[in-house]
Amino acid sequence: MTKQVELGKSWLKVNPIGLGTNAVGGHNLYPDTDEEAGKELVRTAIDHGVNFLDTAYLYGQGRSEELIGEVVKSSGKRADLVIASKVSPVFTDDGMKNNNSPDFLKQEVDKSLKRLQTDYVDLMYIHYPDEKTPEAEAVGSLKELKDEGKIRAIGVSNFSPDQLKRANQDGYVDVYQGEYNLLNREAENTLFPYVTEQNISFIPFFPLASGLLAGKYDKNAQFNDFRANSPYFQKGVYEQNLAKVEQLRKIANGKNASAAHVVLAWYLTRDAIDAVIPGAKRGQQVLDNLNTLDVQLTAQEVQDIDRIFE
Ligand code: NAP
Repeated sequence: MTKQVELGKSWLKVNPIGLGTNAVGGHNLYPDTDEEAGKELVRTAIDHGVNFLDTAYLYGQGRSEELIGEVVKSSGKRADLVIASKVSPVFTDDGMKNNNSPDFLKQEVDKSLKRLQTDYVDLMYIHYPDEKTPEAEAVGSLKELKDEGKIRAIGVSNFSPDQLKRANQDGYVDVYQGEYNLLNREAENTLFPYVTEQNISFIPFFPLASGLLAGKYDKNAQFNDFRANSPYFQKGVYEQNLAKVEQLRKIANGKNASAAHVVLAWYLTRDAIDAVIPGAKRGQQVLDNLNTLDVQLTAQEVQDIDRIFE
């Protein structure tokens, strides 16, 4: 069995390779979402020892949670799993808004529990900051839910460093989720020192830069989903990124590994990071990402990768 790690001070124990599920039922993010393929990849993950599933209301406006709820229920393995979800966005005619008022967050957590067909969510994040609720008050409402047993750990996501500090005023934040990957390392300066000092686990999202760091794309690739507007994929920058991935691939080849394995293994060498949640579109990618656990990077390789993506 894979060695499990604790997420910060949360007491949650996870396989360091988790699964990000924004492509599971995430019709609003990926236009060609196939729900059966989504369920199949969650099933594959659970069957092969992935126990950390990351979802959110935002992914398909609850559909991702519903599909995961179905698969988890039929697996009979709920107690072995660490399910993370996120609440706060609301969809109006004017688009998405965030509402972190305590009453709203509590109501949304109840709905999330129903969609996931479970009595508790292991890790509940506030998905985004809002414009009006004091951060500590919003987190305080999750602490009440934790005391009631509806959630087991508290997270915040997409908060600025100052917002995170205010959110963690009473020391209640267990996990922070933010964008971080080899192509965007800003968090190393802005967030890592604080989370490390506070024993808050940093979960990087877009760890594979939405597939770009997995090393399979070339200059002719076309994207018809949100990646068409992602900064990593814009003309000029994209070609520079591909050149860096090519150098990475050389290191990976020398270890009989893939670029994705080496990238994910590199994150796990960071003090702030206990676990990663690469997304996937197919079960095969989930299985492939699990091979990361067999990759040992030497100190020299860690430094070389650091330098390529400086
Ligand atoms: P990601 O992990 O950077 O990239 C995932 C994509 O990479 C997959 O959909 C797949 O796309 C490709 N891929 C994965 N494994 C591969 C492999 N072994 N070989 C080749 N290609 C592979 O991006 P992400 O899924 O958007 O982010 C990870 C998770 O973070 C999400 O699923 C979600 O749970 C979370 N997230 C959170 C926030 C937030 O605001 N908190 C924001 C974004 C994401 P292709 O096959 O199409 O290349």
